[in-house]
Amino acid sequence: MTVKVSERTCVACRKKAARTELLRFVLQGEEGAEVLSFDESRRRPGRGVWTCSSAECFEKALAKGQLLRGLRAPKAVRQQAQSDEVVHELRESVAHIFKKI
Ligand SMILES: [Zn+2]
Repeated sequence: MTVKVSERTCVACRKKAARTELLRFVLQGEEGAEVLSFDESRRRPGRGVWTCSSAECFEKALAKGQLLRGLRAPKAVRQQAQSDEVVHELRESVAHIFKKI
């Protein structure tokens, strides 16, 4: 018997995996001033994008802007949503996950 698991696709490598194995990212903040943020609970409302729990996929998605594209962030939001400061915080927030693996 197979158990149905809800699967999501990593935006970096397009691999499918159970949502519990992936990392979720969302836009958070007031409209027009959203920032990219790590949704550790995987339960925050709104559109989310997913990557594998690997530094490789996370960095790739970040470098190619695939997180924001996947979130369909408006152009005006994209720049500040992925500013150096935000990216730095984002890296800090996922660092402990990569260390575990
Ligand atoms: Zn991946």
